Order: sequence, then structure tokens, then C-alpha cells
Amino acid sequence: MIGSAEAGKGYWGRILWVDLSAGKTAFEELDDTLYQKFLSGVGLGAKVLWDRMPAEIDPLGPENILGFTTGLLTDTGSLFTGRFTVVGKSPLSGGWGDANCGGYFSPWLKRCGLDAVFFTGAGERPQYLYLDDQTTELKDASDLWGLDAIETETRLKERHGTRAQVACIGPAGEKLSLISGIVTDRGRIAARSGLGAVMGSKKLKAVVAAGTRRVGVFDRPRINRLSRDFQGQISAKKGLERFLTDGLLGIIGKITRRSRIYPRQPADLWRLLLSKFGTTALTAMSAESGDSPIKNWSGVGTRDFPLSRSQKIGAEAVRRYETKKYGCFSCPLHCGGFMKIEEGPYPIPEMHKIEYETLCAFGSLLLNDDLFAILKINDLLNRAGMDSISCGGVVALAIECFENGILNLEDTDGLELRWGNAPAILALTEKIIRREGLGDLLADGVKRAAEKLGRGSDQFAVHCGGVEPPMHDPKFDPGFGTAYACEPAPGRHTVSSYTYLDLQFLEKKFPRAKKVSSLTTHKEKYRTDNKGEAQAVDSFYKMLIDGAGACLFGTQIGGNFPLCEWLNAATGWENSPEDYLVIGERIEQLRQAFTLREGLNPRIDFRPHPRLFGDPPASRGPAKGITLDVEALTNGFYQALGWDLETAKPNKDRLIQLGLEEVIGVLYKQG
Ligand code: SF4
Repeated sequence: MIGSAEAGKGYWGRILWVDLSAGKTAFEELDDTLYQKFLSGVGLGAKVLWDRMPAEIDPLGPENILGFTTGLLTDTGSLFTGRFTVVGKSPLSGGWGDANCGGYFSPWLKRCGLDAVFFTGAGERPQYLYLDDQTTELKDASDLWGLDAIETETRLKERHGTRAQVACIGPAGEKLSLISGIVTDRGRIAARSGLGAVMGSKKLKAVVAAGTRRVGVFDRPRINRLSRDFQGQISAKKGLERFLTDGLLGIIGKITRRSRIYPRQPADLWRLLLSKFGTTALTAMSAESGDSPIKNWSGVGTRDFPLSRSQKIGAEAVRRYETKKYGCFSCPLHCGGFMKIEEGPYPIPEMHKIEYETLCAFGSLLLNDDLFAILKINDLLNRAGMDSISCGGVVALAIECFENGILNLEDTDGLELRWGNAPAILALTEKIIRREGLGDLLADGVKRAAEKLGRGSDQFAVHCGGVEPPMHDPKFDPGFGTAYACEPAPGRHTVSSYTYLDLQFLEKKFPRAKKVSSLTTHKEKYRTDNKGEAQAVDSFYKMLIDGAGACLFGTQIGGNFPLCEWLNAATGWENSPEDYLVIGERIEQLRQAFTLREGLNPRIDFRPHPRLFGDPPASRGPAKGITLDVEALTNGFYQALGWDLETAKPNKDRLIQLGLEEVIGVLYKQG
């Protein structure tokens, strides 16, 4: 049946509130207009937190609201749409916090007849929430406290059945590490923003979702047709991946560096790489091209971490230990995998395939080419529930401090923290997880570590507004620099960049999006006067992706990812692509308003460490002599969003156009 009330609209219009202090739960029905204005996922989260959370609260106090939101398209029959977004005030940046993750948790949460669950208050003892079609029950988690994330999931599945899906914290979240995340599916992490610590502060060990009800949609045949079409589009050239080798990836990286001409990133190639290697495909290629940060953002890949080293931890080296492929819910691409490591000093019976970000954060960033040690660290961090990007960042800080005499053997409990000293890197990671000795100081990220350590260590503390930057160097793709500095959740690599513009072809979807030749030539790459609007549109698109619960990779692998079409088919709306961009912008502006309401000025407070922009410039390598103009890069984005160049506030007219009048009263109360 199409278009009837019974057919549904892709969302339930219902959320659950859980007051952990009082031990009570309550359903709330939401009006359709909220979904029409904000979708679900990150948009629903932003709206609820803006409306219900008081300003300037302690992010680790009971007033913080922690939300688990499902995507509007999740479980509707659309592809690549199984992600959930966790929202809350970030204890790491002090502003808006969100983190999203794939796996299977989101559809099972939605099958409980809910679009989201929001936690307030804090328990006196550890608890977990169990949900199914009929039940919303807080249960004692004392016996789970102290277990790692995989042990916790195993125990809860024994108790509630293997179809139950679990999102939980490990010891890092329990110990309130500000670089901790929330783990699902035996080691996939909603890692960024430090929201694991928020969960730990509430003594909430886990959320277990075991729903069975499938949400209705407006036009299922159309959704299925769109899914079949898209599946057909991305099946093109299948089989060619057998020609892709690490050697070829190194050559691509080399050509990029030598010629200073970036081969226009073909989405087809990216799809084949993801399908064969997952994100590990980037490891050697990025170290060579200048995409990977080297030696705490001060090194040069070709000099300090050449192919002979990066390939030791590259795609093929990792693939040797892959036992089977893995795909998230509704994903036809399967970029993930499982690994088993039987040789070497650190056997691991099973773990999720390592990602590029972790390989780089514990590889080239630390000049470490010991694959076995990095794989062991990956397993430790997955189990602890700790963000590997941030953890690699704090280890890099500690090594640079040690190398420069700011830390000594007494500070490190005898660890020789030298570049590439894998046993010491592994031992320090264990200390950070346990918050032991120097590890306690490092467990809250580089900014706080440097503040406590003093002695000039802040010069080596590479962060953006307290958040450790991801493994993509803005001197290679300046668009990442814009996003790191401007996003309401700073230091974010999954929203917009020039690479993404090259892969997503937004100009074919949205009349407003103009084509920019972003990375094609050296000259174009470093032009700053023509990219602000394009990146703004890209960020609005990402808000739609996160509101729908979609995977970014689905939008970057060729074909026409039918996001707006799926949304219309699921809901019965007749929005144009431009209407959807307005929704995306509304979400982005509300996230910005949230950060501003917390008393931060992102223009100043989120300014990235100078090394990210080539200050001082490299003396050799692909970024030789390059210092990016931060003002020029960020001004274009600010202007495209109508943000004041000094205060970072969205202008009033823009807020009125977007129907965000309630924001004006808060941001402009002083005039
Ligand atoms: S492409 Fe990878 S991350 Fe995205 S949904 Fe598929 S398996 Fe998950």
C-alpha cells in the first residue's frame, strides 16, 4: 500500500527518555514537522539537545544529555544506511559533540519502535538499558563494569540472545578518558568527541537493542527500485580490483608527489580499493603523496617514512591476515573484514580489520613500521573503547616531549619513548588505557596533557579545539584544513574536503553546487577564493547523510547515490534536492549555534595547530615551502554560511530564512 497512514513514513515519530538518576523511562511522540525540518539522526539529536539542554553545563555532569539516534533511512530498504549517531556536549572540545558508527546496532534500535533514545541524569551504580518491542528496562551492570567492550557484548548476548545488538563502553569510558568512544559490533567505535566519557559519567555501561518491528515506509517499491538501480551502478568494473596491488598504490602516491599533479580521484577506483582493501588502501599511497601526517606532523613521508617502511604496514601486509569480509547493515560494498593473527609476538584470535586512520596514527605519525605491534594496539583500543586517532596523537606528543627532554625516563616509568620504538609505544598505550602513571596525564588528549605538563610541551600538542586531528594533512588537501578549523565539531575529516568534492560530484545533484577543479592541478589545489561555497554545500550534504544514517563511502564510490530520492520515497515528501540542502544547512547551523551557546568562539578556540598549515613550512617533500593561508581558507567557508568573521555567529537573516528564529534570541541576547 502506498501513501496510506499504515504504510508509514520511514520514522516512528517516537523517542525514549531515560532518567538515569531516577531510574525512569518515558516515551515522547514527536511532531512530523521536526523530521521535516531536521530529518532524524544527527538532525534530531541537534534539535533535541538545543531545546532541552541548559547552556554551559559540565559535560561530565548529570545535566549533559547523551542521545543515540538512528537514521531516517535506516531499515527502510535503502542501501548503506545502517549508521547511528551519538550526540552530547563534547567534554573534549567543550562544544557540540557527535560521533557515528556503522555495524548493526542502529537498525535493531529502530526496530524497538524508536527513532532515538536520550539519557539524562547519572546512576549511582552501573546500569545498562535493555530494549525490545515491549520492554524498556534499566538493569544492574555491576558485573559488567570493568569488562572490556568485547567481553561486555559477549556477556550481554549470552543473556539476551545473539540477535540483540549492543553499544557499550569499555574501561576507557568508565575511567572518563576524554578520548574514549562507544563500541558496537565487537570493536566498531563511535570514537570522536569523547562521548564514551559522557556515557561513563552516567554510569551507563551499555544499551542493548533487540527490536523486531520494521518501520513502515511511504513507497517501498520505489525504495527497492532505487536500491536496485544504485546497486547496478556500483557493480560496474567489478573484478578489476584483482589488478590493484600495494606496489601500484605506491606508484600512484609517487606520481602525485613527483608531478605535483593530483590524478583526479576516480570514484570507480576508490570503490574498487575499498572493496578489496578497505581504507587500508590509503596507507602507503598517502604516506607517499603527502596525505598522511608524519612524525607528529613535522616530518616528510618520502624522507622519514618511505615506501620501504609504509608498505610494511600497507594494504597487502594487512590483507595477509584477513579471514573474511565484513559489511555493515544494508551495505553491498563490504569494506570491512575480520582478521586473525597467529604469528608474531601478539597473537589475536579475531578482530575487526584495522582502518587506515589507526595504521597511520600508530604508523607514520610515530615513524613505526611494526605491523604486529600496531595490530595489537588496534585490538587493545577496540576493547578499551578508545579513539585511535586521538590516542596516536597523545603518544606522538609524549614521544616528541621525550625526544626534546621535556619528559625523562623517570616520567615514563623507564619507557624509552623514541620515534618508532614499537614496544615502548605499545606499553604507553596500555598505560593510557589504564590511566597509569604518565598514561593518566595523556588519557584526556593532547591539549589537557600539555596544560598539565607545561615545560613548553604545548608546542608539540597538535590539536584543533582540543581534538586531535585525523590522518589527512591539509597541505595535501587544504579542504581538510577548512573542515578541521570550521566544523562545529572541530578536527573532523568526514564532513567535507576537496577530495570529497572530486568524488561526490555534487554539482550533478544540487543546482547550487558549482563544480570546482579542486585537486586537479597544483595551482587549483591551493586556490582559496573559489572553494568556500562548494565546501559549505558539501557540509550540508554530510548533515543529510548523517540525518539519514548513511555511510559516507556510499556517496563517494561512483554512481548516483539517490539520497534525496530515497528520503522522498520513505517519507512521502516531495522535496527537491535544494529543499534537502536547506535541511542540511539547518542542521549545520544548529550545531554551530550549540557550540557558540557553550561560550566558545570557534574562530579562536578551534584554530588548528600551526603545523597543520605548514608553519613552519617543510624543507622538502610534497609540501615543500607550502604555508596555507588559514584566514583565506576559512573565510570563504564562513562567508558561505553567513558566519561573522570575528564572532562566528550565523547572521540573523540567515537564521530567519532557515526557520531558526529561536537561535537568534539566544545568540544575540547581548545585542
Ligand atoms: S562501506 Fe564500509 S563502513 Fe560503509 S557501510 Fe559498508 S562496510 Fe560499513
